[in-house]
Amino acid sequence: SQKILTVSNLAVSFQTESGTLSAVDGVSFELKKGSTLGIAGESGCGKSVTALSIISLLPKPSGRIDSGSVILHGCRNSQSFAGHSMLNSKQPWPLSGTPDHENGGKNGNENGNIELLNLDPEKMRTIRGRNISMIFQEPMTALNPVYKIKKQMLEVYSIHFPDMTRQQMTRDATDMLKQVGIANPDKIIECYPHQLSGGMRQRVMIAMALATKPDILIADEPTTALDVTVQAQILELISTLQREMGMSVILITHDLGVIAENCEDAVVMYGGRVAERAGVKELFKNPSHPYTKGLLNSIPALAATPKTTLPAIRGRVPSLEEMPIGCRFSTRCPDVMDICLKISPAETEIATCHFSACHLHEKTFKVANDFSNLQP
Ligand code: SF4
Ligand code: MG
Repeated sequence: SQKILTVSNLAVSFQTESGTLSAVDGVSFELKKGSTLGIAGESGCGKSVTALSIISLLPKPSGRIDSGSVILHGCRNSQSFAGHSMLNSKQPWPLSGTPDHENGGKNGNENGNIELLNLDPEKMRTIRGRNISMIFQEPMTALNPVYKIKKQMLEVYSIHFPDMTRQQMTRDATDMLKQVGIANPDKIIECYPHQLSGGMRQRVMIAMALATKPDILIADEPTTALDVTVQAQILELISTLQREMGMSVILITHDLGVIAENCEDAVVMYGGRVAERAGVKELFKNPSHPYTKGLLNSIPALAATPKTTLPAIRGRVPSLEEMPIGCRFSTRCPDVMDICLKISPAETEIATCHFSACHLHEKTFKVANDFSNLQP
């Protein structure tokens, strides 16, 4: 199916007192239109850094994108964008490698691919919210405690829809709150964030993120701070709104159970790199990377052998300062080999659209090649 976002070889580093530290290294994946992609891994694996890079919200000035590409593929909003007053410019969007004429001669503005890295900050601000919205684990970081919900929601509208009247904005905001399952939007909209429960705040934040009807929603651990019942409600809400709006979603979570239930595709990250990625069904049927296997075994309900006695993966994710050379999982991997301590494993396609970055799989490939070399 059609792609809406392609991330290729993304590399991000942080400038710290201990020098330049690699936080994300060579991350690639594709988000299909209308589908949900999960990014999984323990905290400190680079999931949030990857998401923040996509929408240019890396902490400044320490965070820096070193290389890679993030392409937003022609999406329904880019057309309205081309004529948007804020962007009333003859300059075409920066295009990806495909020249216009190879795109069937279509106008790059309307159907072209937009490179989001190094995009002009003004254009990025418009993309953010209008095409790509992000929600965070703790809504209080996104909501301003000193303003009522109404003021904050109307601000979103006035940035993205400057032509709307205040009355229209209020009506739409109230409507959005109703859509995210708030029964008494007229009352809630007059509240300050601290007057609401965690679950309510999360709903308000989702309403704000979706007010612009974005093409892509990035949800970074949207339910981690909530209790289990509310968690399930929020995830259900996101998937309902996704279906209704035809949105594509990137769902970031440390919980593989959440991935299993909500995503079509998954990326498992470790130490700022992709350990394994595949369709969710394939990934759970044939987990191949030792890290993925370890994660699955730590969830009894998902473990290949139920009642497994295997503990959760021993040890912790190394900090950026102590990231090992070679395979970044080598300090915790039960299958570690000599080569793993020296050379970083490359992503290998071990089945159709199923990638794993592990020397175990590279080895299989090499053996196969050796045999073919013996053929006459
Ligand atoms: Fe383990 Fe080596 Fe594979 Fe890394 S490359 S996951 S250390 S076997
Ligand atoms: Mg995070």
